[in-house]
Amino acid sequence: MSTVHHHPTDETLGSFAAGRLDEARAVVIATHAALCADCARAISDFEAIGGQCLEEVEPVAMADDALEKILARAGNAASVVLRQTPDAPGPEVKLPLSAYLKGSIDDVEWKRVAPGLSQSVIEAQGYRQGVLRLLKIDPGTEMPKHSHKGNELTLILRGAYEDEIGDFGVGDLADLDGEYTHTPKAIGDEPCICLIATEAPLKFKTLVGRIAQPFIGL
Ligand SMILES: [Zn+2]
Repeated sequence: MSTVHHHPTDETLGSFAAGRLDEARAVVIATHAALCADCARAISDFEAIGGQCLEEVEPVAMADDALEKILARAGNAASVVLRQTPDAPGPEVKLPLSAYLKGSIDDVEWKRVAPGLSQSVIEAQGYRQGVLRLLKIDPGTEMPKHSHKGNELTLILRGAYEDEIGDFGVGDLADLDGEYTHTPKAIGDEPCICLIATEAPLKFKTLVGRIAQPFIGL
């Protein structure tokens, strides 16, 4: 039974299947799909529908297929060590994300950006407006309340956080647009590690958030 409760919107899955997401967001969706059978199936369905549509229109030059590109890169890289459930250490799960890391998540070099908050920016080759990074939130730490100028995808790789939407555990994905304001707080005993792709810088609602923003570089 799947333990994943939060998924990308159909719009995001459809854009991914059509190769219309920037690389940063495509990596997050491909990594989620590797952990979520429902979304992997939905992407296949979208691809099948997309294929049918293509047969009905004049051929045009297509964008690179994001999933194929990412999976091809993933094939040559070391596995990302990811426990399948937070409580029980499971077998290593090979993720599309592994192509972008030098080793496992345990080898990531963190840069502290605020009390209880560290990040590691990931180089996504050829990405356009998307920014890809890992964020580590220490247990009990609450991020400053913020909204977003564009779409933000957050995938939980370790630990858990809670916000106004609910609880997010390993494999869960938050697909948030610019309208939404939230205050994620890490819960449980271990740091919460998230893979985040942002389309545009965050807009902080509080003074402390605005002061911290240049340092965090969000
Ligand atoms: Zn899913």
